[in-house]
Amino acid sequence: MTIHNDRARPGDQNLGVLFNEGKVRRRREWRGVKDTLYDYGRWLYILSILARFIVKPRNIKAMFRYRWMANYLAVPHMVDKFTMGLRDEPLRIVHTAMDFVVYDVAQTMENIFRGDRRTGNDEKFSAKCVLTDENAMTAFMMGFPTLKAILREVPTMFVANLLNQYSTTHYLDVAQQAGIPGDVCPMPEAEAGISIEDDFAVLGACAVQVNTTCDGSLMGNGIIAKRLEREYGIPTFQLVAPMRHREADVQDYAAQDIKNAIAFIEEHTGAKWDWDAYFECAKRVNDITRNRLAWLEMNSTNYPQFVGAPFSLYNDTNYMGNCGRSPKFPPIDRKIMKYAQHGYEAKRMMAPEYRHRAIIWGVQPQYVIDMLNWMIHCWGIVPLTDMLSMVNTREIAEVDTPENREQAYYDMAWLNENMIMRNRTHGGYKVLVDELWQFCEQMNADMVIMWEHMSCKALDGMHGQFEEQAREKGIHLVWVCHDLCDPRVYTRQAIRDQLNTYMRTVMREEPLDPTIEVLPDEKAW
Ligand code: SF4
Repeated sequence: MTIHNDRARPGDQNLGVLFNEGKVRRRREWRGVKDTLYDYGRWLYILSILARFIVKPRNIKAMFRYRWMANYLAVPHMVDKFTMGLRDEPLRIVHTAMDFVVYDVAQTMENIFRGDRRTGNDEKFSAKCVLTDENAMTAFMMGFPTLKAILREVPTMFVANLLNQYSTTHYLDVAQQAGIPGDVCPMPEAEAGISIEDDFAVLGACAVQVNTTCDGSLMGNGIIAKRLEREYGIPTFQLVAPMRHREADVQDYAAQDIKNAIAFIEEHTGAKWDWDAYFECAKRVNDITRNRLAWLEMNSTNYPQFVGAPFSLYNDTNYMGNCGRSPKFPPIDRKIMKYAQHGYEAKRMMAPEYRHRAIIWGVQPQYVIDMLNWMIHCWGIVPLTDMLSMVNTREIAEVDTPENREQAYYDMAWLNENMIMRNRTHGGYKVLVDELWQFCEQMNADMVIMWEHMSCKALDGMHGQFEEQAREKGIHLVWVCHDLCDPRVYTRQAIRDQLNTYMRTVMREEPLDPTIEVLPDEKAW
């Protein structure tokens, strides 16, 4: 059902005027006086974060030591991609969420270079750091308030590829020259390449790696752990999440593994598990869960407010990377909630027209992650939610009692098992295929945009089942093939063209804004 925006959008109507063939846009977007000034103020704020970061001598040193650091020049451009075409509350929601993600990543980098043996070399600080896997819930750190969980892959690989589409290509070549096959998932492969080239910062008393239960993650973790342990003397624990994570008979094993990880950290850092801190964090985890569910409920209506890549990236950061450990997130959640409620009541829309309601499934292409915002403006397709945001929905024990202390290990294991990505790509057809159709029903979706990440084999294996069942249920299923972090395989426009072709040939529709159907951004950050 098409919904029209009865409020005229101030400022630029055709967004194609913003693009040229360069790395950045031709000019800033005109959104009317109020929203242009707001957006410009936030742009200056992002620049101030960068300026405050770069004036520190150890960060300048890091700029020259680590090849991936140069990507951070593109931070303001990344935020501009997420806010393209937005006005009113949706503009403010994206800025509130993404500006805080930028701040959080800058803090992570501050910590990394403070402890890094090659730049800050603060040995006392480094002894209080635990390297934790990017693909892990940091739940096992909730009871260690005096330690720092350092997710060094996040700025080195994950965020760098959001900023610059070519950030991983060099490291993928390094990994393949070392004999790793080219059909491995580019995310763990690039991380392995970074380790082979010795381009990760080196710090920490110990490390905890977590399997994503896929072939790529096992390969990457093996290579990285060897360098950490043999060359840098950083003992590394393998927290092994079970494959069929919803089955009752794996939960005792998973809880025991969490106990082992905690004992390992205590042994190597000298810190003691603190139950008061744990239950404090558990309350925040429950708060995050309730807020995410409230936003999803709002997205089930005709007037979704918090959607797309910012929804997913904010959830990644808050749910997985933070996992209730920082008191700085709840006020940001509340601010977003206030905007979302206000926007919902005022029936704010992001585009002149909504034609389709889509669930985004599969693992997203990192280097064109702003495609969901483009989709709203180009075709009037609203991304209601995405696979990476459909994580834990149940509340964990948050009151300190003897029974809850035992339950806490099961809760931490549950959070770890329901980590972003793994909880759907692995765990069987029920979590990957069956639950998708439930979400379509709950959220009134008529379309599924199916990211087919060609190196994610467990997900690709279900291709035929998705096709068959979508046909039966009358859901439009649009396959969009990509290679996650490697734009040389599918370019950004090749990715957008898969949707363009479907919309023109199958749906027989014309774009809402034809000036952005093809974008000259192949050379852009
Ligand atoms: S995208 Fe797939 S293959 Fe790549 S790390 Fe995630 S689960 Fe593994």
